Amino acid sequence: MPHESSAGGVVVRDMDGEVHVAVIRPRGKSLWALPKGHVDAGERPEDAACREVREETGLDATLDRPLGEIRYVYQFRGRRIFKTVAFFLFRYREGEIDRLDPDMREEVDEAKWVRLADARKLLGYRGERQIITRAQELLLPASAPTESR
Ligand code: ATP
Repeated sequence: MPHESSAGGVVVRDMDGEVHVAVIRPRGKSLWALPKGHVDAGERPEDAACREVREETGLDATLDRPLGEIRYVYQFRGRRIFKTVAFFLFRYREGEIDRLDPDMREEVDEAKWVRLADARKLLGYRGERQIITRAQELLLPASAPTESR
């Protein structure tokens, strides 16, 4: 089975005393997801994640630490493709959410901040919900859930 590698980011920021995370609605999809994309040849996954965060959310962010990998299989033109996505925790540095290059509008309908505590029920993919759970365990120890959906 062909294999693809992508990398993505959980970008966090304290706002009004609460941890928030940047999420996106990919073009043509009616779900919320984390920013991510293809790792280019010779590119480190954390650098790809940082670049994809900037392109898909408009934010500049500083790498904190890895959050783990997710795996899934999808079909493209009748072929099954195995994909791994490495996620990293980033700290917001600067930029305005959803202020994207016009080119990126072809990939992203909307980017927004949501409370980290609300992100798990919003995200459409199970693997990404597990990544959010990991971020909650690191950042919100008191409210970390004991199970994930
Ligand atoms: P990338 O953002 O990595 O460049 P892409 O847009 O080419 O990627 P995906 O986002 O992996 O590709 O989407 C390919 C298919 O996999 C789509 O049908 C999408 O709905 C599905 N998909 C995306 N993320 C997940 C996930 N975390 N779990 C399961 N299926 C997913």
